[in-house]
Amino acid sequence: MLSTMQDVPLLISRILTHGSSIHGTSQVITWTGEGDPQRRSYAEIGSRAAQLAHALREDLGVHGDERVATLMWNNAEHVEAYFAIPSMGAVLHTLNLRLPAEQLAWIVNHAADRVVIVNGSLIPLIAPLLPHLKTVEHVVVSGPGDRSPLADTHVQVHEYEELIAGQPVAYDWPELDERAAAAMCYTSGTTGDPKGVVYSHRSIYLHSMQVNMTQSMGLTDQDISLVVVPQFHVNAWGLPHATFMTGVHMLMPDRFLQPAPLAEMIESVQPTHAAAVPTIWQGLLAELTARPRNVSSLTQVTIGGSACPPSLMEAFDKLGMRVCHAWGMTETSPLGTIARPPAHAVGTDEEFAYRLTQGRFPAGVEARLTGPGGERLPWDGESAGELEVRGPWIAGAYYNGPDAEPLRPADKFSEDGWLKTGDVGTISADGFLTLTDRAKDVIKSGGEWISSVELENALMAHPDVAEAAVVAVPDDKWGERPLATVVLKEGSAADFTTLRTFLQEERKIAKWQLPERWTVIEAVPKTSVGKFDKKVLRRQYAEGALD
Ligand code: ADP
Repeated sequence: MLSTMQDVPLLISRILTHGSSIHGTSQVITWTGEGDPQRRSYAEIGSRAAQLAHALREDLGVHGDERVATLMWNNAEHVEAYFAIPSMGAVLHTLNLRLPAEQLAWIVNHAADRVVIVNGSLIPLIAPLLPHLKTVEHVVVSGPGDRSPLADTHVQVHEYEELIAGQPVAYDWPELDERAAAAMCYTSGTTGDPKGVVYSHRSIYLHSMQVNMTQSMGLTDQDISLVVVPQFHVNAWGLPHATFMTGVHMLMPDRFLQPAPLAEMIESVQPTHAAAVPTIWQGLLAELTARPRNVSSLTQVTIGGSACPPSLMEAFDKLGMRVCHAWGMTETSPLGTIARPPAHAVGTDEEFAYRLTQGRFPAGVEARLTGPGGERLPWDGESAGELEVRGPWIAGAYYNGPDAEPLRPADKFSEDGWLKTGDVGTISADGFLTLTDRAKDVIKSGGEWISSVELENALMAHPDVAEAAVVAVPDDKWGERPLATVVLKEGSAADFTTLRTFLQEERKIAKWQLPERWTVIEAVPKTSVGKFDKKVLRRQYAEGALD
């Protein structure tokens, strides 16, 4: 028997219409680096998104599910593109501006993007790529930056503001299939070619509702969210869509992502919430320690993308910024778990330990652990295996061209369709995930596993250590052993013996897990989305490490 409910497709145009009317006075505040930030209401964003859609359709001839790419920072125009492109039925393809040029070109060609909307400051990045972009016909430029490198190229160049000026401020958004492609994002290709993940209107709609739940980010129209996580990194963790559902204001940092301007915008605009990867927060913490500022408005910080070091959580707690740790991937939209402690732990000694886990699975994400032999492992908080997940906003395949069958590589998808995350960890009986490592980063020493993340967190708890990354190096006797690469704080002279003793005595790391090999480095190399790049470290230090 079918239900008697209305069959209304879950479309991004509905999120836009809701946000720009019911929450029409909420604002996207974009930092400009000089003077007052730019403020644009959700009502204006709605009108301008309609204008952009008209321009794309009528002037640039975008039809059907053609891909329109963005090479942009977080700003109001990028939010307009976020809504206009999928709402008209086309597919938003966010490009990661930190990828190496050849990878960017590969991705644009693979997705067959027809139009690229680019920020003026990124013209030096895209101009030399254009001869290699086979499908791009139009480049639309927004914001300050020298346009001259775009002269004499095969593409048609347009000014964003000129293109949308005079277009109608309403658009009759089509009733699409909610399962249709809305947006796509490529994984950063740490191994092999990048893989395209295609989100549907339905997956984004449902994910946004989950982000808004009180036990997730739980923001309201009284909040201003500082969205540091890039819009090209898994849809800025779903924030632009989620905020349009609830009227949360967004503070967008544009290209001003260094610690000093971030501290300045927090002091001046007074956001209540912020979201970014740990490395951004480590930088901000150092800045605030060196030059204290009034950041008292910021009381909630969502940290994910890589494990939140306990020392960072403690330091932020002291500043009155309560950290909420979350886990996810490009393939999971990204919200996979979020660490809100259960009621019984709140206010007890257990609370901090719960907050340090990757968190609990929300409704909509099913999880299981698989052991090395393919066996299902219990949720006992001890049995460690690979995490597999499934749900309505979890990828079931990768994009393989518009007319090709999607890819389902066996190392990424189980036979029964679950996503194999490549993350290793445990799950407690009450559904809290603790990741011990990435499958490829775990250190396999004499048949036992050493968690690189545990060693890193222990090292970063030492007051002289700014950052630490631990990688496996080949070892004749044990197969692999840990190598600790350490960035010391300015002026500190801690030596390896001190750090080793600290790990053993203060942090209770088992003796057989203690690194014998150490090296001091200037900075931990980072990936395009600001995570520790262990591939580079392994390449640099696998041989010749100091003893
Ligand atoms: P990439 O795989 O290119 O780094 P993603 O952003 O999709 O791009 O990264 C997802 C991975 O990041 C996860 O599989 C996991 O290994 C790691 N990750 C994300 N959040 C956390 C977290 N809170 N703790 C530990 N690892 C995390």
